[in-house]
Amino acid sequence: MIKKAHRSLYQWYTIHGRHDLPWRTTRDPYKIYLSEIMLQQTQVKTVLQRFYAPFLERFPTLADVAQSDIDDVLKMWEGLGYYTRARNLHSAAQQCDGILPKSAFDLLKLPGIGRSTAHAVSAFAYKEPLPILDANVKRILHRYFAIEERDEKQLWKAAYDLFDSDHPFEYNQAMMDIGSLVCLSKKPLCELCPFEMSCKGKSSPLSYPMPKIKKIKSIRHRTIIVNRNNDKFALFQRKERFLSGLWGFFQYEILENRNGVFLGHITQHYSHFTLQADVYVGDGDSADEEFEWFTRSEIDNLSLSRADHKVLQLID
Ligand code: SF4
Repeated sequence: MIKKAHRSLYQWYTIHGRHDLPWRTTRDPYKIYLSEIMLQQTQVKTVLQRFYAPFLERFPTLADVAQSDIDDVLKMWEGLGYYTRARNLHSAAQQCDGILPKSAFDLLKLPGIGRSTAHAVSAFAYKEPLPILDANVKRILHRYFAIEERDEKQLWKAAYDLFDSDHPFEYNQAMMDIGSLVCLSKKPLCELCPFEMSCKGKSSPLSYPMPKIKKIKSIRHRTIIVNRNNDKFALFQRKERFLSGLWGFFQYEILENRNGVFLGHITQHYSHFTLQADVYVGDGDSADEEFEWFTRSEIDNLSLSRADHKVLQLID
């Protein structure tokens, strides 16, 4: 049965697979690793159109990442979000001196590289016979084996059960494509799926995995103060984990006595909360100790969060 499923998977992949994606036409482990990290929280289309090629142009090798300042890496990551990925990439590059280890076992020792990413790099760059388990593959396995529980251990077992160790490259690439083109999260296209004959969950695909109870996102109300001194603006570099390393304007819990001119309002949705902020322009020094003054054109060279870009639009 599994062999039959593999055969129809490869027939489908030969005709419909996305063979020309740039990270599929290379064996360079750095380029594959970069694509895996960028694709963790971002769609193929976005990575392809706006981020992958420019990043490689700026940092052609992992050694270039290792030798660069983290601010330069964050600048190239700007707009892609989930900046921990960029910080981990930079730390991993430095930790391995710009040369990635050649086995999944050693890749796992680097920051930000989990089991699925380690397997993907090893399978695609070195043809190690290892299955991947990214979000798309998880969804297929949940449905294929009719697994309701979101249990990582059980899913890894399922990943090995369906895996084709003779063709790790083709199998993993084909599974990724099925996940993003056919076994869609909201509307699976079972009639077009090569697993249609053997999938246990196809009569009720949306039941696998069991739907999550939706959490209501909290709203954070803040006041943002743009401190201006002639042609310069005060910005600080974030040190806390969230958006760490990015520059921004000063944010406060709602202020009672606001001095300054109201500039506008911004809303920014993050994965775990929504920011609602009124923006004011003040003049003179900031009450905060750690900040630097920048001209408007200098700010363009800093890496900023999306919310701070919206503030810049108000200023402009
Ligand atoms: S048959 Fe349907 S539910 Fe099963 S893997 Fe294919 S698309 Fe997903």
